[in-house]
Amino acid sequence: MTVPLPTATTRWRCTLCGNLTRFDVTRASKVVEYVHLDLAGEPKVEEREVLSETIESVRCRWCNAVDQVELVDRPGADS
Ligand SMILES: [Zn+2]
Repeated sequence: MTVPLPTATTRWRCTLCGNLTRFDVTRASKVVEYVHLDLAGEPKVEEREVLSETIESVRCRWCNAVDQVELVDRPGADS
């Protein structure tokens, strides 16, 4: 199942328990990192460019339902 992506006017809602605020999101992303190493060889990522990103699953923190989210309007959004 494909997870619907929230937009500027919509948000996720768990269809089982109604949770609106807490989810575990499994995300696959392809990124380019600018790694800057100090003289001791300790690496630090100073820039990160996301080339592509896919949400693989969304799990509700309240009831553990996986991919049972729907989109609802955000408060104040015109529908
Ligand atoms: Zn839930």
